[in-house]
Amino acid sequence: MSFPSMPNPDVVIIGAGIIGINCALALQARGKRVLMLDRSGIAVETSSGNAGAFAFPEVEPLATPGIMLKAPKWLLDPLGPLSIPPAYAPKIAPWMLRFWRASWRDRYDASVTAQAALMTHSRRALDRVIADVGGEAFIRREGQLQLFQSPRAFAATERARTRREELGIPFDVLDGPDAIAEIQPGLSPRFTHAIFTPTWMNVTDPALWARHLAAKVLERGAAFEPVTVTGLQRDGAGATVLTERGRVRAPHVVVAAGAWSHKLARDLGDRIPLETERGYNTTFPTASVDIKTHLTFSEHGFVVSRIGDGLRVGGAVELGGLDRPPNYARAQTLLNKAAEFLPGLEKTGGTQWMGYRPSLPDSLPVIGRAAHAPDVVYAFGHGHLGLTQSSGTGDLVAALVDQSGPQFDLKPFRANRF
Ligand SMILES: Cc1cc2nc3c(=O)[nH]c(=O)nc-3n(C[C@H](O)[C@H](O)[C@H](O)COP(=O)(O)OP(=O)(O)OC[C@H]3O[C@@H](n4cnc5c(N)ncnc54)[C@H](O)[C@@H]3O)c2cc1C
Repeated sequence: MSFPSMPNPDVVIIGAGIIGINCALALQARGKRVLMLDRSGIAVETSSGNAGAFAFPEVEPLATPGIMLKAPKWLLDPLGPLSIPPAYAPKIAPWMLRFWRASWRDRYDASVTAQAALMTHSRRALDRVIADVGGEAFIRREGQLQLFQSPRAFAATERARTRREELGIPFDVLDGPDAIAEIQPGLSPRFTHAIFTPTWMNVTDPALWARHLAAKVLERGAAFEPVTVTGLQRDGAGATVLTERGRVRAPHVVVAAGAWSHKLARDLGDRIPLETERGYNTTFPTASVDIKTHLTFSEHGFVVSRIGDGLRVGGAVELGGLDRPPNYARAQTLLNKAAEFLPGLEKTGGTQWMGYRPSLPDSLPVIGRAAHAPDVVYAFGHGHLGLTQSSGTGDLVAALVDQSGPQFDLKPFRANRF
């Protein structure tokens, strides 16, 4: 078959994860003919197996003031919530240095402000997307319960709670196991405090949600090619995408290749400190515990969420790069902890998974034009929040391509901010 199946597309999107798919949806809404390219298929990488949360209240970056004092303690435990395989430590050192700088008060404050703006924008864009694609059946509106094992651990959330109050995000503080059990029965009584965020939303299954959106995009006339992109060239007004099956030229190209995006940006002269925070989970097709809401065990770096008729236990941050094999002992560690906290949880019969969160040191994505190729738009690096910010990112990318509103300050998200 000739390549590509769509001749003369207006926009080529590299990457058909949740970000690329939302970019396609928003570009189509502006009348663009869109061609999506992905070597793995539609939403089969990181976007398929995440925890399914629209985490709009999570505006704090990972690099919080004081984090570098806590990190060494975490790093001592090779299966702890944050880990760096020793052989990868020299490779990630420059990123860690930027991460440390991002935790300084001035940068931290700027990141929170920018993240909050993107969250507000994304929340509104998601509402429009849900209405546009008939998506309500994929959405759960059951809130989130964030659990703490000691008054001290709860007290440490004071800054985050103040931020939420300032941003008008409603939440309730629950004091003691009885109050907690009213929201989620069956938890171990060790939790002394919890924060319940009633407006928190989840998808029923992130893979099915992404594929529902992609089906709409294809129904509305977009094309998809399963192909590996090998390079990118600036080409007059537009760009040429090189693939293993031939080249395709377009007036606009969007790079939404998740944790692999920096490799393509390098072809255009942009050196972007994109790393991956590898995350792990175990998914059970049926639920041995009746999960009433999204459960977050912040002190332990993992969550339990309902996925379809089953549940998913996952989290952890492993700064281990794109090439080393998964260490599924990490998924098992999270599951063992979850079973301590939810004593009814059955530990057998699950499927383990690892995904590559695409992450910049300041926890903000890159959304903006390539420095030397203004017709190439970058949309990657959403870290822990790619699902959450996907519709907002799609909207902003479409506006950049179309050179029309919305009024939104993209400076904090530019590629060359480091
Ligand atoms: C354990 C875990 C839990 C998470 N939970 C949540 C959550 O609850 N809420 C939330 O908002 N986010 C969550 N995330 C983060 C979220 O999953 C990611 O931010 C998001 O999936 C990134 O989407 P993406 O489209 O940028 O990347 P991807 O889904 O990885 O898609 C990128 C695509 O680009 C393709 N590609 C790359 N290079 C090339 C190339 N050269 N040629 C062709 N194709 C290429 C890949 O095949 C891939 O399909 C979680 C992540 C993990 C790991």
